[in-house]
Amino acid sequence: MTKPKLDLILNGAGEIITCVPELNNSIGRQRGMAVAIVGETIAAIAPRLELDSIWDTTTALEVDLQGKIIAPGFVDCHTHLVFGGTRAQEYAARMTRTAQEAAALGIPSGIQATVNMTQASSPEELTERASQTLNRMFRYGTTTVESKSGYGLNAEKEIELLQVNHNLQKIQPIDLVSTFLGAHDFPVDIPRPGYLDMLINEMIPHIAKHNLARFCDVYCDEGYYSDKESRLILETGLRFGLLPKIHVDAYANIGGSVLAADLKATSADHLNYTTRSEMALLAKTGVIGVVMPGLDFAVQHPRPFNARLMIAEGLTLALATDFCPGCWMESMQMVMQLACRLYQFSPEEAMYAATMGAAKAVGLETDRGSLEPGKLADIQVWELPTFEDLIYRIGNNAVSMVIKRGQIHHF
Ligand SMILES: [Zn+2]
Repeated sequence: MTKPKLDLILNGAGEIITCVPELNNSIGRQRGMAVAIVGETIAAIAPRLELDSIWDTTTALEVDLQGKIIAPGFVDCHTHLVFGGTRAQEYAARMTRTAQEAAALGIPSGIQATVNMTQASSPEELTERASQTLNRMFRYGTTTVESKSGYGLNAEKEIELLQVNHNLQKIQPIDLVSTFLGAHDFPVDIPRPGYLDMLINEMIPHIAKHNLARFCDVYCDEGYYSDKESRLILETGLRFGLLPKIHVDAYANIGGSVLAADLKATSADHLNYTTRSEMALLAKTGVIGVVMPGLDFAVQHPRPFNARLMIAEGLTLALATDFCPGCWMESMQMVMQLACRLYQFSPEEAMYAATMGAAKAVGLETDRGSLEPGKLADIQVWELPTFEDLIYRIGNNAVSMVIKRGQIHHF
């Protein structure tokens, strides 16, 4: 009987972080193993010599990693990737000034400033800027990115932003997960009931019909969407096959976590003001908690989320950059460093949350988030002496190579 052919063998890794938990080995750290790849998929993780007995290795490309560390590609499960302009001037002004003082200087600020700059940008300009960000994220080891709309705030522009997600998929290697966040804020030029009607009766049906998003998301917080409005939007999304995700408890608790649990949302994101009993409720209903240390850092959040309490209540956590005009964070390595130093994640907990936890937060845990036979060959290679150096070397980029769907990219 002829043996099946391997396409690629990664050999000589100092360590493999599989992110498959084992007893006393929460992220599946393995030594002395090679990774065997066929096409886009991992075929085996086994000692190099064992591969020859099962597989035809004669035509495989064999890469000697010379002691480098390999790990699953990061899944960045919460970003606002597509927008026009930047808010660098606002960010800089806020180092020494209040929001009111910055506004008094005439510096365009807040979501509305980005909505204006986004509406003034062509789809080509939006695609170009976002693809530059994705290229940098890729070099930081991220192989899947969730991307929300939300800076269009009218039917035409919101749909255009989701089409930009679709176009981005064709021009760069990262897999995109598209999320409709028309309910990011209320537009200044459309009355509130009219915009709600537009979301429910125009945008969601169109987006579902044209398969432009996997998820529907709402910004449920004081001054934004109430829990009732959020429920109406997310239930409409569900009826049209869009799975619920929800921004909750970022700046106030208005019942978003209870709604997330009630709707069995795929994820509840932010969680700064979530109560302990709500954490337990989210855990019980299988909602993934997405936390974003980079955003809290960028806005100097007055109430840090409590990761230890969430973990104690059994909540599965995911980390994300929350890349957006207010938080220009492209590196999941930096997010892990902040999670560990400021939020008392162990390095292993941060690693799991940045890969498997995050894959669960976008409903893709069956084909990515860990290194296992049958999963996508989405792999990052770190030039580091130990796994712990990933957390230790602050601001460093450890990634020297990414394998995306079985294709090697050297940096
Ligand atoms: Zn967000």
